[in-house]
Amino acid sequence: MKGLVSAAVAAVLVLFAAGFAAIWFSPSVQDAMLRRVVAANMTFNEAVLDPEALHVVLCGTGSPMPDPDRAQSCAIVYAGEHVFVVDAGLGGWDRLAAFGLPVGNLSGVLLTHFHSDHISGLPDIALNSWASGRREPLALYGPPGVETVAAGFDLAYSLDDGYRIAHHGPDFFAADGANYRPIKVDVPDRETGVVFFDEAGVKITAFRVSHEPVEPAYGFRIDYKGRSVVFSGDTKQDHNLAVFGEGADVMIHEALAAHMVDLLGEGLAARGDRRSKVMYDIQNYHATPVEAAATANEAGAKLLVYTHIVPRLPNALAERVFLRGVSDVRKRGMMIGYDGLYLRLPAGSEKIETIDLR
Ligand SMILES: [Zn+2]
Ligand SMILES: [Zn+2]
Repeated sequence: MKGLVSAAVAAVLVLFAAGFAAIWFSPSVQDAMLRRVVAANMTFNEAVLDPEALHVVLCGTGSPMPDPDRAQSCAIVYAGEHVFVVDAGLGGWDRLAAFGLPVGNLSGVLLTHFHSDHISGLPDIALNSWASGRREPLALYGPPGVETVAAGFDLAYSLDDGYRIAHHGPDFFAADGANYRPIKVDVPDRETGVVFFDEAGVKITAFRVSHEPVEPAYGFRIDYKGRSVVFSGDTKQDHNLAVFGEGADVMIHEALAAHMVDLLGEGLAARGDRRSKVMYDIQNYHATPVEAAATANEAGAKLLVYTHIVPRLPNALAERVFLRGVSDVRKRGMMIGYDGLYLRLPAGSEKIETIDLR
């Protein structure tokens, strides 16, 4: 009996080795496998194009602090004929590509403010939507100052644009598509919300939030077919979010756990690292998870999704510490966002479907 088992194990091993050798040494077998992998990975996520729902995907839920699990600020919203990226931090494009999200018909990018982690991924999104067929300049909506950001990127990437048009031809890369079209959204005061986009059933409102010394900084609300999502941008706890986010289906709110960042500051200070100052400074212009929960309650938002997560949350224990005190304020309708969180809000319904694209 023992001899029979050994013989069977040996036969399996020989077959495995033969299979491995066929893959390892045969270019034609390798190419056939690659073709299958490519075909499986080249499909677009068509579901987000369904015009009968408002679709929101988080493509970056991190901050300037290094986090291997999170790209910097990025979200994409599909609403019928229109597609908007909301903030364009570093790594956002990688996530959009990984999740197979189409960007060729991008209507524009909405910038809440101009901290680096909200604009540093802009050139990659611009290049890839250009390559996907966008022929007009990319509309950049943002607070006053958006012209400076657009002009700076246009200048910095002008050589790159020229190489690509020369290499692939102007039929493929239309010259106009290389550039940005900055559209300044001026919100005069805290009481006033400005509707700066209202087309094909998509209404977008900008309003002021508190992120001093960044002045002005905006939050955005997007309404489509009776469904709505509100983005806090970067802000400390701000009543304006409750005002302009009133009754929103989803509130995407930034959060910094001050009780955790304090410990990071302490650790850095103990080592004599000058960056400990930054750990204390950043606390006065962000909201804690508990404060964001209170704001979501005040707004009557159905689902609160935390984003712009500070600090890094590498495991379940860290997530638990991050959420400390939140359940005292808000018992349900709350989650920590992650890169690849897809929220589908069907029209004519109260439903909020959460889908994990990772
Ligand atoms: Zn900021
Ligand atoms: Zn930020």
